[in-house]
Amino acid sequence: MNKHHKREHLALVVGAGVAGSEAAWQLAEHGIRVIVVDQNALPYGKIEDGLPLWHIGLRDRVEADIDRKLRHPNIKFLPLFTVGKDMSLDQIMNDYKFDAVILAFGAWKDRPLPVEGIEKFRNRQLIYQNDLMKWFNHKHEPDFAGPHYQIEDGAVVIGGGLASLDVIKIVMMELVGRVLRDKYGLDYDVFTMEKKGIKKILEENGLKWEDLGLKGATLVYRRSAREMPLKVALSDSEADKEKAREVAEKLLHTYKEKFMFDFVPNAVPVDFTEEEGKLTGLVLEKTRTEDGKLVYTGERFVLPTTQVISSIGAIPVKLPGIPYRGDAIDTEGPSGSKVKGFDNLFAVGNAVTGKGNIKMAKEHGRQAMREWLWAKREPVAGVLRQMDEKYLTDTDKRAESISDYILSKPIPTQEEVDHVWELVENKRREIGYKDYDSWIKAHKPVRLEEMLGLKKKDKSGSGSKS
Ligand SMILES: Cc1cc2nc3c(=O)[nH]c(=O)nc-3n(C[C@H](O)[C@H](O)[C@H](O)COP(=O)(O)OP(=O)(O)OC[C@H]3O[C@@H](n4cnc5c(N)ncnc54)[C@H](O)[C@@H]3O)c2cc1C
Repeated sequence: MNKHHKREHLALVVGAGVAGSEAAWQLAEHGIRVIVVDQNALPYGKIEDGLPLWHIGLRDRVEADIDRKLRHPNIKFLPLFTVGKDMSLDQIMNDYKFDAVILAFGAWKDRPLPVEGIEKFRNRQLIYQNDLMKWFNHKHEPDFAGPHYQIEDGAVVIGGGLASLDVIKIVMMELVGRVLRDKYGLDYDVFTMEKKGIKKILEENGLKWEDLGLKGATLVYRRSAREMPLKVALSDSEADKEKAREVAEKLLHTYKEKFMFDFVPNAVPVDFTEEEGKLTGLVLEKTRTEDGKLVYTGERFVLPTTQVISSIGAIPVKLPGIPYRGDAIDTEGPSGSKVKGFDNLFAVGNAVTGKGNIKMAKEHGRQAMREWLWAKREPVAGVLRQMDEKYLTDTDKRAESISDYILSKPIPTQEEVDHVWELVENKRREIGYKDYDSWIKAHKPVRLEEMLGLKKKDKSGSGSKS
């Protein structure tokens, strides 16, 4: 057995995306054995199914980083295993002696659009962001089995965050791309369209918007462009907040011009219109902001549309046994990662932060595990070198506060650890998993840029072997 396996600590990480792989790696580096399970065949989470496919460089870099982490000899990756389906969290917590269970399962449930009765149009005239992104990123794959969508002219996107800007871009590129192809025989790939923008593409072909015969799409946001959460203020000072508002407004304006969509600010969908069972419009109520609070004015109007795309945020799926505060997992502790009521259950990444950001998901996974390791008095020399003085002191103080309940946990015997390790090995045999690299190679989908001949295929499938 590998010398790394001689430790008696054992942890389980649920979800192998940015946050889960980072958390697992932090633990593995300290000699703890880690099992990482994921419901999907591939470990990458939202990087594969959320982040729009034109971010080729970012996607490949982050996926290579996840690969590097999950190849750690102390980590055992078990794909196609869904907690809550293949095994309940209750069973995991009670029947197996994990030192820690870390929930890194992201936010995969779209926040329901709060318009009574509109769900009946789901997947026909109402599409949610998670479903749309999965389709958009994978629709070119010959064996893509998810629902297929046809973007309709006049589609309305409800949202306001960065992800909703990606969504409205996709909607506009789908609409315009189709007309350019069908009416003018111009075949622009999505990478070129995204880079140049629609306005420039029309200009270089001597076309005007009116020539296309399209209504286009509309982005509806409940507040003003200045209030869009597109830029985080550098500090709480009024000057920095104002700067962030200015950047948000400018960003929205730039996107709007480049991708030629309409923008309706200060409006909230409250109802819909229909004819013969088909959605014909959204009833919007005008709003204003008073002292930072959203005020409904009572003034309503109908925005005609036959398709609504909801991009109002994603929340973690609710697993029985976990405490929730509203939509979020109820956590406490310095980094807000210890699940309330448990001494060894943690949650990291999008599942907790609610912020759709790779860096934040990774940092949250890292910080939470450092706190935990410190609390367990694990050797942290490598970690120490990477941290500045202030952060060290803060983390030390924080770690102190959670050390008591962590240290009170009985450590499993070597036999118990080996038993779980073996169970996972058997599960992997059942699904035909031999080793990390060949599994990834067999399951990584064909890339659109490769199909279009824009990028050479990576022969190794998952980068270099360790
Ligand atoms: C449209 C869009 C655009 C974005 N653009 C950017 C960008 O430009 N820059 C940026 O920094 N970020 C961007 N993000 C956000 C970024 O992709 C995420 O914040 C980040 O990938 C989240 O990482 P995570 O590990 O917390 O969660 P996830 O990536 O969601 O990982 C969770 C993992 O848990 C697994 N899982 C879920 N439930 C279970 C279960 N019950 N059992 C087992 N496994 C389970 C899932 O399969 C998944 O692999 C974007 C997101 C979207 C949707």
